[in-house]
Amino acid sequence: MNTQNWTNWQRAVIKVGSALIAPNGDQVSDQYILPIAQFINESRLAGKEVIIVSSGSVAAGRNEINCHDQGVTIAEKQAMAAVGQVKMMENWQRCFDVSCAQLLITHGDLRDRRRYVNIKNTVRELLINNIIPIINENDTVATQEIKVGDNDNLAALVALVSDADVLFICSDIDGLYDADPKTNRNAKLLPSVDAITKDIYALAGDTQNKIATGGMITKLQAAEKTTNNGINTFIVNGKNENTFSKLSNNQHVGTWFKAVNNKDSAKKQWLQYTLHASGKLVIDEGAQAALLGNGASLLAKGIVSAQGDFVRGDAIDIEYNNEIIARGLSQYSKAELALILGKDSAEFESILGFRLGSKHTEEIIHRDDLVLFNS
Ligand code: GLU
Repeated sequence: MNTQNWTNWQRAVIKVGSALIAPNGDQVSDQYILPIAQFINESRLAGKEVIIVSSGSVAAGRNEINCHDQGVTIAEKQAMAAVGQVKMMENWQRCFDVSCAQLLITHGDLRDRRRYVNIKNTVRELLINNIIPIINENDTVATQEIKVGDNDNLAALVALVSDADVLFICSDIDGLYDADPKTNRNAKLLPSVDAITKDIYALAGDTQNKIATGGMITKLQAAEKTTNNGINTFIVNGKNENTFSKLSNNQHVGTWFKAVNNKDSAKKQWLQYTLHASGKLVIDEGAQAALLGNGASLLAKGIVSAQGDFVRGDAIDIEYNNEIIARGLSQYSKAELALILGKDSAEFESILGFRLGSKHTEEIIHRDDLVLFNS
């Protein structure tokens, strides 16, 4: 994908902040999410895929929990999230004719290679089945050590795990300004940002929003993660009616943080240089031709041998004719793979006692998680 052209996106993550879900800070409203849902419907009709990262569970559950006078305790907040999450999901579901799915995750889940692959597979499977994934942090279990902490950064991590082309962060501000618009009448909105430098961070003041966790800093952190990985990112004002009709018409709105490199080359770099391969698969000529010629996923049928010690989600090299031709993330552990290599996918269940997913996830390495070294 041409990074200078954001309009040809195929898969988007839309982050919707608490200020849009629960504008008064204590219950859900569909006022601002209806235009977002309409944009999502239009995008889906155009053949695009959309994943929502939604905040608002704590705000939506606020009225349900009796709180101490001396401020809200962690348990009270987690209870608000538990009850509010249902209200937030019901509110979204009312806006769509298709089904919505709830995914609650923590940073701990994204850090764990096996769970990371499971999240990736679940999102993939939901999208294939025309279901809208709606993701939030699992606030009721999240402790300081395992939580992302804010949904801006969570949305960036979701954009990475789900292989999105674009991230839209919908908030109650128009975008990034060159000065604080609340105190400086001459402050100007920056239409685009080429690189997120220290000077750009210096433009972000403290959050003014009492409902949401994030402020401008977390949005910039999110945009830094995504743009470095080839994902164009926008901060847009979700309270402004025109925002979504403009986005539907591929018109620029808010602040566009430009992807600094191509998504594929960023992924290639990550797989090739950042990850350490924990094993190696030797493949046959048929598999080599399928990988190089057709951009196919790697199936068990074409694997001759497996070496090394790896678990699900680890990076592994692919060798053909004594040459490493690719690297990818394995869907299976070494022990599992040893039992199924050379076999047809239809036999997996009787050999392993389980099937990883539906017919869509029988690959040993999915082509989305694979880089070819000489392409
Ligand atoms: N996960 C929190 C909630 O649902 C929101 C975090 C955030 O707004 O950044 O209330």
